[in-house]
Amino acid sequence: MEIKNCRKCGRMFNYLMGPQICDNCKKAAEEKFQEVKEFVRANKTAHIQEICRECDVEQKQVQQWIREERLVFSDDSPVMINCEICGKQIRTGRYCDSCKKDTANAVSAAGRRPDQMNPGANNARHQSGNRMHTFNDK
Ligand SMILES: [Zn+2]
Ligand SMILES: [Zn+2]
Repeated sequence: MEIKNCRKCGRMFNYLMGPQICDNCKKAAEEKFQEVKEFVRANKTAHIQEICRECDVEQKQVQQWIREERLVFSDDSPVMINCEICGKQIRTGRYCDSCKKDTANAVSAAGRRPDQMNPGANNARHQSGNRMHTFNDK
């Protein structure tokens, strides 16, 4: 275990792994995520700027949730992010369908899937024997 400064609030905390953010900020981000999720559900056609304004959250943060596929938008939603490889507009995740296919091929050839490469998730599963269920459905 090491002591690090939280990237958000600068407080010292015991750093284990994953994002360099203290428990307080992690909790605050999680509450914010629930708020945004509710807002998106209630306002299916809201633009990302609107979401940021209404929920008082950074656009970067919203995009990160989209990339993590935690935040999913309906087909009516104008919210789009860019594929990290070709820049095509996509709704969720990191890559468009064709790039996803390409990377899936590339990764399975290497014997690993991208969603199994998150050490945080693996660790949580390892410790509790269940896959962070409480994280999303609060
Ligand atoms: Zn903090
Ligand atoms: Zn692409």
